[in-house]
Amino acid sequence: MSTSGPRDLVDPYGRVVRDLRIAVTDRCNFRCTYCMPEEGMEWIPRSEILTFEEITRVARICVERYGFEGIRLTGGEPTIRHDFTRLVEQLAGLGVDVAVTTNAATLRNIAHELRAAGLHRINISLDTLDRAKFERMTRRDELDHVLAGIAAAQDAGFEPVKINAVIERGVNDDELVDLARFGREHGLEVRFIEFMPLDATDEWQRSKVVGQDEIVRLIGEVWPIEQEPARGAAPADRWRYLDGKGLVGVIPTVTKPFCGDCDRVRLTADGQLRTCLFATDEFDLRAALRAGETDDQIADRIERAVGTKWAGQQINQVNFIRPKRNMSQIGG
Ligand code: SAM
Ligand code: SF4
Repeated sequence: MSTSGPRDLVDPYGRVVRDLRIAVTDRCNFRCTYCMPEEGMEWIPRSEILTFEEITRVARICVERYGFEGIRLTGGEPTIRHDFTRLVEQLAGLGVDVAVTTNAATLRNIAHELRAAGLHRINISLDTLDRAKFERMTRRDELDHVLAGIAAAQDAGFEPVKINAVIERGVNDDELVDLARFGREHGLEVRFIEFMPLDATDEWQRSKVVGQDEIVRLIGEVWPIEQEPARGAAPADRWRYLDGKGLVGVIPTVTKPFCGDCDRVRLTADGQLRTCLFATDEFDLRAALRAGETDDQIADRIERAVGTKWAGQQINQVNFIRPKRNMSQIGG
């Protein structure tokens, strides 16, 4: 236990790290084409997956020592982890903002209990409103369940519920306006995500990316919008509908990288600390936890990792190296 209060965890470029993204599993009940292969994904052996107690310990160190303000649970699909609500409860007990990113396939069954467990915010992935296309994109016929999950999240009192939509040219870019309309009509904040080179099958190409400027232009042609002031450390740029129907966002990782404001580190399901989605290095906290290291020693490892955080990802450089892991293994 640290004797003094929290102090800033500052990276070599002066950014204060305050946000921890935790992949609670690498497994998933969907097989989104931009994320996973249809078959043949190699799962992390269960013995290597962090326990809830190990996850909570790392989170507690980040909160107590460095004043982390937010924890986002992701994966893989976080809700398929057995007893997921208990983890939410443990982390909410640290007194920080706890959020989850989910595909919502089973959310209708647990939205209320997650709310009661202290979950603050929820982001739901939905890339299309067309049932056949949904099945092509996720390789599962689950659109109705996802829509029920969105309704359940709203019914449970999450406000706003945010929708993540990855847009891939030639796949679902024809639905941009329909997805935006769906958000406006249902009081949801839709955030369009630029397709990133983190798919497992290496099919990403720059030509498949629909960039922020194009997305904003297409929406602005239908409804007048105005950009919100600076986003701070959050990844989405946001626009307000001038008719009062809420907000729409874009996460422009490829065309307008926002690394200069990044406040995040990530913990993979097998306990590797990463300082960037696109990092090629990892820091093994699982080995440290299981070797019986003290909080001081683990904190020291976290500080050393953050000491290597780079200025920014290199997607737009010729020497870009894809990380060995795909999005579901890193935790998007
Ligand atoms: N399974 C949950 C879900 O889909 O919401 C959480 C994990 S998923 C990896 C987190 C987010 O990453 C989702 O919004 C998903 O759409 C997004 N994602 C996955 N692969 C991506 C890619 N190649 N480019 C951009 N976003 C991607
Ligand atoms: Fe699963 Fe989420 Fe990846 Fe889709 S994006 S395969 S739901 S982890």
